[in-house]
Amino acid sequence: MPENPYVFKIQKYSIHDGPGIRTTLFFQGCPLSCHWCHNPESRAESLKINKEEMDKVSFALMEEIEKDLIFYDDSGGGVTISGGEPLSQPQLLFRLLDQCREKEIHTCVDTSGYGAAGILLKAAEKADLILYDIKLIDEKVHKKYTGKSVDLILENLKQLSRQKAAVRLRFPLIPRVTDTIENIGRVIVFLKENTIYRDIHILPFHKTGEGKYLSLGRKNYMKDIQPPYREKTAKVKKQFESNGFNVAIGG
Ligand code: SF4
Repeated sequence: MPENPYVFKIQKYSIHDGPGIRTTLFFQGCPLSCHWCHNPESRAESLKINKEEMDKVSFALMEEIEKDLIFYDDSGGGVTISGGEPLSQPQLLFRLLDQCREKEIHTCVDTSGYGAAGILLKAAEKADLILYDIKLIDEKVHKKYTGKSVDLILENLKQLSRQKAAVRLRFPLIPRVTDTIENIGRVIVFLKENTIYRDIHILPFHKTGEGKYLSLGRKNYMKDIQPPYREKTAKVKKQFESNGFNVAIGG
């Protein structure tokens, strides 16, 4: 894996970050601070990239990406740019999306939606699919658990919908935070009233990031929270389905 301050991890053979088998690039830097984040190491500020660095970094990343072309072709997979928040490094994001398109490699951008609308809409044009998290609708609750306002995220999703961008919605199912009947009801109403999207992937909370909080010496708000029971996940799935949504678990 190429060492650089812009991408903190490259995950090969990923099957949870979009269709097929994928290489996932985790961009450094995220403006949110979700209590349940599995990648707390990503929150450090990313650096501004200059032209020379950009050429070097994107070349190394493309070399890494192209090693697995055969897996993408066989599985309908490709590359996912995740984070951190990919929108926080637009120059590198656009460069990689352009290079992948030139080489006919399928691309996903996995975003919280918290970024400038212009950057998001441009990314949506350059990528094949946007993976978009919708977590909470209530402003106060969103601020409490992510540190930021939800308005920009909801407004950006409306804009993607107006542009008819290819979007896969993802709903992180976080016990005691997003999993209330009320929140899910409000998510459903928001999506039906403001977007064309009716496919949603439920991402049940898991504890894989736990060790990272310990090693970083950071407070882990989710220390005593267990992943949702299968019955709970099935119940949430049903709530979306009974409102006309196609639901998948994971991915
Ligand atoms: S948006 Fe994603 S990367 Fe950023 S803090 Fe939340 S979970 Fe972590």
